[in-house]
Amino acid sequence: MPRLTPLAAGLPATVPFVSPEQTERDRGRVFTSRLGANENGFGPSPLAVQAMQGAAAQMWKYGDSANHDLRHALAAHHGVRPENITVGEGIDGLLGNLVRLTIAAGDRVVTSLGAYPTLNYHVTGFGGVIEAVPYRNDHEDPSALVAKARDVGARLVYIANPDNPMGTWHQAGVIEQMLDDLPDDALLVLDEAYIELAPPGTAPNIDANDPRVIRLRTFSKAYGLAGLRVGYAIGPTDLITAFDRVRNHFGVNRMGQIAALAALQDHAHLTHVQNNVARSRDRIAAITAENGLCALPSATNFVAVDCGQNGDYTRAVLAQMLDAGVFLRMPAVAPMDRCLRVSCGTDADMDLLAAALPAALNPR
Ligand SMILES: *Cc1c(COP(=O)(O)O)cnc(C)c1O
Repeated sequence: MPRLTPLAAGLPATVPFVSPEQTERDRGRVFTSRLGANENGFGPSPLAVQAMQGAAAQMWKYGDSANHDLRHALAAHHGVRPENITVGEGIDGLLGNLVRLTIAAGDRVVTSLGAYPTLNYHVTGFGGVIEAVPYRNDHEDPSALVAKARDVGARLVYIANPDNPMGTWHQAGVIEQMLDDLPDDALLVLDEAYIELAPPGTAPNIDANDPRVIRLRTFSKAYGLAGLRVGYAIGPTDLITAFDRVRNHFGVNRMGQIAALAALQDHAHLTHVQNNVARSRDRIAAITAENGLCALPSATNFVAVDCGQNGDYTRAVLAQMLDAGVFLRMPAVAPMDRCLRVSCGTDADMDLLAAALPAALNPR
C-alpha cells in the first residue's frame, strides 16, 4: 500500500465500534430504541444544555487550549492540584496520548481478553504488543493482570473498574492491592468511565501524585455528554504535564469545555441520573427474568444479560433485536458472549425492550 508506514500498512482495518447510525444505514431502517452504546438516555444536565445554547454564537472562537476553567473546576472537585489533571477528547483520546507517551515499538501492554477495546487499538497503532489475560467469573482478574505484567515486563496494565462489557466491579481494596502488587516498571491505567454510577466503596483511595497509576474519567456516561468528547486524567504531575507534549491542543472544543463545566456543577442532575440508572437496571433485570434470563449485577449504566447459551445463539438474538428496531451490543469474546449488553434507558425504551425480547429469544 503506497505512502503508509510499514506499521500502518500492517494494521488490521478494524473499526472497534460500528455506530448505530452506520447500522441503520446498513439495514435500511432506523432504530426505535438506542440501548447499545451505553449512552445516557436520561440526557445531560439542563444547565449544560442552557450553557451550550448560550454559547452557540461564540463558536467562531477557538476553545482555550489550556482547558483552564474546566481543569481548575475538576481539581477543586477532586481535591487535587490543576497540575494533576489533563483534559482530553474523551477517555478514548486520552488513552491514545498515554500510549504515545509511554509505549515504544515492542513494548508490552497487559489487558483482559474481551475488555474495552480502545486501548488495544492505540497500542497496536504505536507498535506496542497486547498481552491479554482471561476474565474470571465475568470479572477482570486483577491478580492475573499483575502476574502477566510481571511475566512480560509490561509498561502499562489496564483495568476498567467498573468493567465494560460486563458491568461487574471490584471493591476499592482490590484495586489498592493491585497497585501494591504491580511490578515497578508498570503503570496502572485505571479506567473509571462508570465510577459515578458504582456503589460507594468502588473508587480506590489513591493519592493523585502516586506514580504507579493514572485514572481516567469521562463526561460521556453519568454526565450524558458522549457526543461532545470530553474526558480527563488524574495522575502525578510529571506524567500529566507530559501530555502537553503530544496532545491535540484544540482537541477539546469550546462547546465541550463549557458544557462539562456546567455539568460538573449540577449535582442534582447527577443524582437524578444515578436514580434513573438504578431504576432502569432493576427494570432490565425484571424484563429479562420474565423471559427466563439472568441479568448480571451491574455497577454501570448497562446490564449484561446471560442468555444461557453460546455466542452464536446470542448473536442470533441480537440480530432479531436489531430487526425489531432495538439497538443493542454484546461482548465479543467467549464465554462472555453468552450475554447481551443492554444500556439503561427511559421507561419508553424499557417498554420497547420488553415488547421485542420474547420473539427475539426464539430465533429461527
Ligand atoms: C464508554 C467507555 C469509555 C469511553 O469514554 P469516552 O470518554 O467517551 O471516550 C472508556 N472506557 C470505558 C470502559 C467505557 O465503557
